[in-house]
Amino acid sequence: MSVMQSPAAQQAERAVVIDGKAFAEGLRERIVVKAREFRELVGKAPGLAVVLVGDDPASQVYVRTKMNKAMDTGIESFPFLLPASTSQTELLALIERLNEDRHVHGILVQLPLPAHIDEVAVIAAIDPAKDVDGFHPINVGQLGLGTASLVPCTPLGCLMMLKHHLGDLSGLKAVVVGRSNIVGKPMANLLLQQNCTVTVLHSRSRNLEDECRQADILVLAIGRPNMIGPESIKPGAVVIDVGINRIIREDGSSALVGDADTEAVSAVAGAITPVPGGVGPMTVACLMRNTLVAACAIEGIAPPSL
Ligand code: NDP
Repeated sequence: MSVMQSPAAQQAERAVVIDGKAFAEGLRERIVVKAREFRELVGKAPGLAVVLVGDDPASQVYVRTKMNKAMDTGIESFPFLLPASTSQTELLALIERLNEDRHVHGILVQLPLPAHIDEVAVIAAIDPAKDVDGFHPINVGQLGLGTASLVPCTPLGCLMMLKHHLGDLSGLKAVVVGRSNIVGKPMANLLLQQNCTVTVLHSRSRNLEDECRQADILVLAIGRPNMIGPESIKPGAVVIDVGINRIIREDGSSALVGDADTEAVSAVAGAITPVPGGVGPMTVACLMRNTLVAACAIEGIAPPSL
């Protein structure tokens, strides 16, 4: 005899939606308070320089979002919108100037840069104390050592949501799909520091589905729309979907989707971040967090607890 469940019971079994937007708003409110205290103590606002080279439309949107969020948070932003023809020498000269500027506590260079500019050289030129993206080799090394204060924003946001949702992560099995320098690798490092048992998967990994199904925590940073289905999910697992993929539907309209098939995965997972409205807002909020942390360190103030 099959037991019919009420709609309410069926609903109760679906994954909790981790609301990144609301979580980011809470973080923003805490940063507003700390940024005000900073201004009162130091006599100037925390300052964030945002450098964009070229006219890539997606990058323009990201930069505008970051500057608006900075303003909303009490952080002064200094935009540098440079033409695509900017030479590497000119860009390095600007970074040198920003490194010396006492009103600038954080420097963000929007990636990708035009092909004629060496990204590695540009990131290496940023003062590590102002590297709010956490991409400078010194900050990457410190993350590996477990001593970094400036950690890449996207994995930091993921970690904050995981800790908020799960509390102590110690001993949990975490699987990270994706090994990029900006998401997958730093995410794996952060989870290791939380005493998770971490597996990192990538395009050459074997038995991806089986590996994913072992995970209490599954972080997806792949860039493949709806790639991960319910067959890859351990019942009750927490799924953090970093992927942002634009798809064109059959009716010609477009939509943003994650790396997980959210609808189907929600029937098995215990919790999942939506796309959009999950990891994305936290990434921007963590940029503000990093700017404030950098500003406090540069001005000799105790780091804010956020
Ligand atoms: P990258 O393209 O740099 O890295 C993708 C990773 O996924 C690589 O390690 C790649 O493996 C792996 N991969 C690709 N295909 C497969 C596959 N079939 N099976 C297993 N692994 C695979 O991307 P990013 O890390 O920069 O970004 C990942 C996604 O996250 C993108 O959708 C991006 O838009 C999004 N993103 C979202 C952010 C946010 O704020 N929400 C911020 C940053 C990124 P290999 O190394 O072998 O090539």
